[in-house]
Amino acid sequence: MHDRNAITIIDTGYVRPGLCAAYLVESAGRAALIDCGTATCAQTVLDAIDAAGVPRDAVDWLLVTHVHLDHAGAAGPLIRALPNARLVVHPRGAPHMIDPTKLIAGAKAVYGEAMFERDHAGMLPVAEDRVVVAEDAHVVELAGRPLLCIDTPGHALHHYSVWDAATRSWFAGDTFGLSYRELDTSTGAFTVPTTSPVQFDPDQMHASIDKLLATSPVSIRIAHYGEVTGCERLAADLHVQIDAMVTIAQAAQGHDDRHARIVDGLTQLYTARAAAHGIDDAAARVHGILGGDIVLNAQGLEVWLDRQAR
Ligand SMILES: [Zn+2]
Repeated sequence: MHDRNAITIIDTGYVRPGLCAAYLVESAGRAALIDCGTATCAQTVLDAIDAAGVPRDAVDWLLVTHVHLDHAGAAGPLIRALPNARLVVHPRGAPHMIDPTKLIAGAKAVYGEAMFERDHAGMLPVAEDRVVVAEDAHVVELAGRPLLCIDTPGHALHHYSVWDAATRSWFAGDTFGLSYRELDTSTGAFTVPTTSPVQFDPDQMHASIDKLLATSPVSIRIAHYGEVTGCERLAADLHVQIDAMVTIAQAAQGHDDRHARIVDGLTQLYTARAAAHGIDDAAARVHGILGGDIVLNAQGLEVWLDRQAR
């Protein structure tokens, strides 16, 4: 018997399995999709909606936690394929969903043409009359299951998180860090903050994590990757690391090899914490699983340093 109030995790397949999640939330025969992967993930997401037994015309909402492309890149093609869906997006993100010119140009500049074609080809504008702007505390009505959108800057200024009172769980996008299931141990989940470019702000990130914890959540569903429990411990782990990462960045400021110093510092920080968490072969596992994120985190910390210097 199909659970009419199910939450289904969808692996968007971006880069590798277990990296980038979307979520399908159901209520009384209607559904909402939360985050959706990059443009080239659109078909995978549609196939997963079909596999969940949810008719495409039963999807009323597509909520994107923020407009980074691994969360919102597939919005254009999906809004076309889901005839009744409206896109719910932060006020700072909405203009970029209606006219993705800047997002496309930015992605080409960051990734180059070849990777753009692989991961982002097929990005499309979303018609303005299909867009709902979610101010802080906006409530999405999903057939008797209210989904509350709360402004959570820190990772990005165009980021909200979604509170599902029915399960006392947040859909937190990138606000509550990265936690890959490959790094779980008997202690539980291993987490690191995500400070990827270009709007990381440590004070805002601390405050947003506290905002999530203030509701005493049973679990938090993050984009990278999946549902985590033990939220108080994870929040404490994130707070400590945000401060340590800022210290690493500040110590590298003014050096010619600033980027390499920050990458080194982050690698050492995460490796020491992974070993203490009981992860075997911590240096190799951190390099293999978090290597890409370490570079992104370093780049975001550098953007933040440069903003402080202005
Ligand atoms: Zn992001």
